[in-house]
Amino acid sequence: MGNILFIAEHENGKLKGYSRELAGKAHELAGQAGGKAIGCLLGKEVAGLAEQLGAFGIEQAYALEGATLEPFLGDIHARALLALIEKIKPQIILASASTTGKDILPRLAMKLKAGLTTDCVDLKIEAGKLKARRPIFAGKALMDVSFNSDVQLATARPNSFPIREAGAGKKASVEKIPANVGGLRVKVKEVKQAEAGMKDLTEAEIIISGGRALGSSENFKVVRELAEVLGATVGASRAAVDAGYISHDHQVGQTGKTVNPKLYIACGISGAIQHLAGMRTSKVIVAINKDPEAPIFSKADYGIVGDLFQILPILTVKFKELLGK
Ligand SMILES: Cc1cc2nc3c(=O)[nH]c(=O)nc-3n(C[C@H](O)[C@H](O)[C@H](O)COP(=O)(O)OP(=O)(O)OC[C@H]3O[C@@H](n4cnc5c(N)ncnc54)[C@H](O)[C@@H]3O)c2cc1C
Repeated sequence: MGNILFIAEHENGKLKGYSRELAGKAHELAGQAGGKAIGCLLGKEVAGLAEQLGAFGIEQAYALEGATLEPFLGDIHARALLALIEKIKPQIILASASTTGKDILPRLAMKLKAGLTTDCVDLKIEAGKLKARRPIFAGKALMDVSFNSDVQLATARPNSFPIREAGAGKKASVEKIPANVGGLRVKVKEVKQAEAGMKDLTEAEIIISGGRALGSSENFKVVRELAEVLGATVGASRAAVDAGYISHDHQVGQTGKTVNPKLYIACGISGAIQHLAGMRTSKVIVAINKDPEAPIFSKADYGIVGDLFQILPILTVKFKELLGK
């Protein structure tokens, strides 16, 4: 069995939560397979962050460092990674199913002529190869995927695995590799920060989403107030986005983001198949809807039948009390 290379991501000088998850999973898979889990970070100066992967049981990591690696460009990152892959020849290559991972891994799979399974919710080793489980048919079923190729690639959906700190306080041994990839075909002119203080939907542990029923962007205030108390990220249905109540980066669903939080609260959302496709793997789903027949209730663990404009302010007050805020 060969080694596992996983790509870790960082933002504002911190490892992303889903990369910490993936580090633990890669360590576990390497244990099952008898190979090594090797981490890799890309950026201007990332050796210090690569060392931190030691906390998740990772002993070896690479820091690919170069001025052209930030801001992120999939083409540049893929080319830097290909040089590393040629050097260390991993059998399995993993990344998170984040915007970054979804951009890089298909490029690598194509160059390596290797199989890729995307958006996996579980990964294991079977007969010396990776076996991946992923949702299909808009999340209605799960499919187990085996690989024919010698090299196997997969992206893992954030929040699919627990964060396992297998080596608290330990540091990975890091090799720095200069990666000044040239020949930029596109130029990033501006990077716009998402809403301050709010986690991206794909890595949020709690999401409160509003639908068409909100009626206006001002009315989204009732959703935002509860989100602030719970430290949640605000999501939305496409109907709310199309009506201009909130921007598209908040959209959950088939043509929005796929999310996997611990708690998903759907407010005034009917539960169309395209919305469910983006959130049905949430661990606990709560629906608030005034129509007791709304399809969302058939997918919800808890349902509140009533007017969201009455219910959300009550929840906000109660959670403030409970959390001492
Ligand atoms: C190709 C394609 C891709 C799509 N992609 C997506 C996608 O990514 N994401 C997505 O969400 N949709 C997507 N859609 C649209 C989807 O089919 C639905 O139209 C959309 O999800 C409906 O949004 P909604 O639930 O907010 O609105 P509605 O279906 O209109 O539901 C509103 C709900 O609010 C309830 N309600 C009304 N007033 C109140 C109140 N005061 N209190 C409590 N409840 C109230 C109503 O009972 C109703 O159930 C897509 C459609 C297509 C064709």
